[in-house]
Amino acid sequence: MRQVMVAGNWKMNGSSESVKELIAGIKDGMASVTKAEVVVCPPAVYIPRVSGMADGSAIKVGSQNVCDEDKGAFTGEISADMLKDVGCEYAIVGHSERRALYGESDELVAKRFAAARRNGIKPIFCIGETLEEREAGVTNDVCARQIDAVIDLEGVAALADGVIAYEPVWAIGTGKVATPEQAQDVHAFIRGKIAALDAGVAEGLRILYGGSMNPGNAKELIGQADIDGGLIGGASLKAEDFLAICQVAE
Ligand code: PEP
Repeated sequence: MRQVMVAGNWKMNGSSESVKELIAGIKDGMASVTKAEVVVCPPAVYIPRVSGMADGSAIKVGSQNVCDEDKGAFTGEISADMLKDVGCEYAIVGHSERRALYGESDELVAKRFAAARRNGIKPIFCIGETLEEREAGVTNDVCARQIDAVIDLEGVAALADGVIAYEPVWAIGTGKVATPEQAQDVHAFIRGKIAALDAGVAEGLRILYGGSMNPGNAKELIGQADIDGGLIGGASLKAEDFLAICQVAE
């Protein structure tokens, strides 16, 4: 049985004050979340504060990215070791905004995945197709290519050290959600592809859905056989909505 995971990607939102309020609100509601693993990924500058406030609760903390190198002259980057030092257990890698806006290639994302892993940080490895790619009928090919970059670098067993987040780019921040069937089809494809290489890894691997998930659609999405939780953007910025999604697993 795979434990449901709900991860909030706060993106570049918040202030010292609002972040404090948000994490306090989530912490307050955690008594009613007994089944899901709950992770929040604040902007990097707020990670120490959020880690401190989450301490003693079941809330885990992740970063929104991680450097592919371990230390040195990489201005603006943050190493996996530093993230661990300030309380991160997870790191998002390959988010579509990083790929599209900052030119992160499949190969660079795979190197970031590897850096997280070798330093004991669990990658939340994002993949997914654009609208054009979906309309061209190449959704599965795109997801396979993105996953293969990690498998080629690290081997299939490495996937067991993190989670995959399938996030159709056209559904991120748009209010357009993949139907449960559309999402399930891709999740089943991903699991099947990995199972062809290692059935044990595929069976244990959590595959989250991301893309306009909210309290109204989470239950049906997470109810699908191969959807093991969600990576939540917009709805993770309101404690009440985020908690409602976490409670879907109860
Ligand atoms: C995301 O950015 O990972 C995401 C899923 O965003 P949203 O929930 O806002 O679509």
